[in-house]
Amino acid sequence: MRNRHANRYPGCRCDLPSATYQFSFAPYADWPQFYSYAEDIKKYFKIFAEKFHIVSHIRLRRKVTAAVYDAASGAWDVTVQNLETLQMRTETYDIFAPATGVLSNVNRPFIPGLESFTKTPVLHTAEWPHCAEKSISAVIGVGCSGLQTIGTIAPHCKTLDVYARTKFWIIPPVGAVDTLKEQEERTLFIERPETLYKHLKEISSSINTLYGSWSPSRLLNQRKLAKPTSPDFLRRDSVGQMCRRATPGAAFFEALKLPNVTFINDPIKKITPNGIVTEKGVERPVDRLILATGFDTSFKPRYRLRGKDGIDLRDAWSQRPKAYLSIAVAGFPNMFFIGCGPGITYANGPFLTCVEAQADYVVACLSKLQKQDLKSMEVDRDVQEEYNIQQESLMKDLIWSDPCASWYKGGKVDGEPDALYAGSTLQFMETLASPRWEDWKFVPLYQNRFSFLGNGESSIEASGGDRAYYITMEDAKNALKASDYKAD
Ligand SMILES: Cc1cc2nc3c(=O)[nH]c(=O)nc-3n(C[C@H](O)[C@H](O)[C@H](O)COP(=O)(O)OP(=O)(O)OC[C@H]3O[C@@H](n4cnc5c(N)ncnc54)[C@H](O)[C@@H]3O)c2cc1C
Repeated sequence: MRNRHANRYPGCRCDLPSATYQFSFAPYADWPQFYSYAEDIKKYFKIFAEKFHIVSHIRLRRKVTAAVYDAASGAWDVTVQNLETLQMRTETYDIFAPATGVLSNVNRPFIPGLESFTKTPVLHTAEWPHCAEKSISAVIGVGCSGLQTIGTIAPHCKTLDVYARTKFWIIPPVGAVDTLKEQEERTLFIERPETLYKHLKEISSSINTLYGSWSPSRLLNQRKLAKPTSPDFLRRDSVGQMCRRATPGAAFFEALKLPNVTFINDPIKKITPNGIVTEKGVERPVDRLILATGFDTSFKPRYRLRGKDGIDLRDAWSQRPKAYLSIAVAGFPNMFFIGCGPGITYANGPFLTCVEAQADYVVACLSKLQKQDLKSMEVDRDVQEEYNIQQESLMKDLIWSDPCASWYKGGKVDGEPDALYAGSTLQFMETLASPRWEDWKFVPLYQNRFSFLGNGESSIEASGGDRAYYITMEDAKNALKASDYKAD
């Protein structure tokens, strides 16, 4: 998880409560804010990595440049570049599990003349410059990163032009007010875990009720804005609330009220060496320009990823990215996406719990491959298609299909929200918890598929483990007694 390393722009924070931006089995009692800032999120993951002894398994400054499946061996040849020495090395792995993120590939938009602006470097919010906030004079984009950046830097800028292309939704903080947690409350979380438990239960249940609002036919969609500031632009219309990701934006609204801030929704025509020209022909000077233009969310890998028949996933997904349970793709055996396949639950509820569920699923697959001497497992193409037909049919009724440009649809107003799972987070977790092995095609390593039964011993006997593992203290405590019997 590097997102919080790349995203260091002023005001960068989560837009769902911190309590849902952590692993369920490793809750943090010390979140300083309801919506924590990037630094605190990074701190949590550092503590997590240390506590679970993950650090020694991580190889930093390495970039995957190619991954090619070898059908003969059932293994993946993965080429990795050492970013310090620039040396390339190809290593062979039994399975390949990309976890490359969805919001990690910087999107620099095509705007005529952008390259002609050389006064100061044009940087993206995910490449935050070491520059004085006051020197920034224009921000393009009002998605989640843009709103947070603008809300934070605006009071410090001499002048700040905010360029907004697409309508967006801003919500009040979800679930609670955004107050700094008092030290007392945090101490209570540590000393009395039941208070932390109650707090986490409440927030998680509240986030998990959101899905019911994504279907207009299930709940009347009241298209209310927190506070329209530019009625022409932010007017009520046929575009459903939350069809794009919404962010708590109190600071952004405060920024728009400042005399030094100008909100511009006239589309940008071009960029010149001096500034920005809009369709109306107005040129406004710019000293330093920031792109808050989000990420490339095409799901296409940034490296060569070749499956069974030599097909590159980027070609397989040239029209639309399609997967099975956001984990597997037909034609790509022994490959499992974790948190970065299309049809993922980015907007359906807490995200990291889904990553956990996917990780558990992959562990179940690994265990099956390993224990049953399987060379490969590949999702059946017909199954994948049928799954996607079901998903698309359900999706039609959801707000994410509304005609609005969102990253869920690759930024296209009339696109399909391929990025998202069509059900709730809870349903996604439930589905993953019981793998449907019948949806997969398995190739055994040996001619006799039962050769894994080997010399007849179980893995426990072979490893010298507990030969009475099925006898538990819990059961002993609940032992049946003769007195339990009530005669008729
Ligand atoms: C401003 C902002 C606010 C957000 N707020 C929330 C929130 O409140 N709650 C929430 O749940 N989510 C939020 N998100 C979404 C957030 O992206 C994810 O929750 C989280 O980062 C996903 O983690 P990940 O590990 O899947 O991906 P990432 O954090 O994106 O990590 C992917 C990693 O893979 C690496 N990588 C990519 N390609 C390669 C390659 N070829 N070789 C080697 N490494 C590679 C990347 O460099 C990166 O280190 C927010 C995102 C942004 C940008």
